Amino acid sequence: MNLDNLYQEVILDHYKNPENKKLSIQKDVQVHHLNPSCGDEITLNLTLEGGLISDLSWEGNGCSISMASASVMSGLLTGKAPSEAMHILDSFMELMQSKGNSKGDENLLEDAVAFAGVSKYPARIKCALLAWMAFKDASLQIQEKSK
Ligand code: ZN
Repeated sequence: MNLDNLYQEVILDHYKNPENKKLSIQKDVQVHHLNPSCGDEITLNLTLEGGLISDLSWEGNGCSISMASASVMSGLLTGKAPSEAMHILDSFMELMQSKGNSKGDENLLEDAVAFAGVSKYPARIKCALLAWMAFKDASLQIQEKSK
């Protein structure tokens, strides 16, 4: 099995068995984001506790890439400090802008490196980034609230 197939399996697995795909009742912030070019949508709940991301739950509809990316992201960022989560987000953004030339930092991105191949397909990059942009929006809103 080559790497591309392995990565496809990771994406399909997250699509079929998504992590944190059930909106929490309590939340600090809720955001709703759309990717009109594909029809993907996501609602994301974010809660911080003790300076860490204690809850990152979501609900959504869309293609396998957008839903799998939301699953991977929620698993990866839960329990992290917001600054660390932003660092991971920046690394994922860089990977998506790499036009297929980067493999991604597996220490930082873990399963999210499976989306490396998506960066070759401009039309799908927005699918992979949807959940991450929703997270970024929610984080900024939390910062505003706590001022
Ligand atoms: Zn999509």
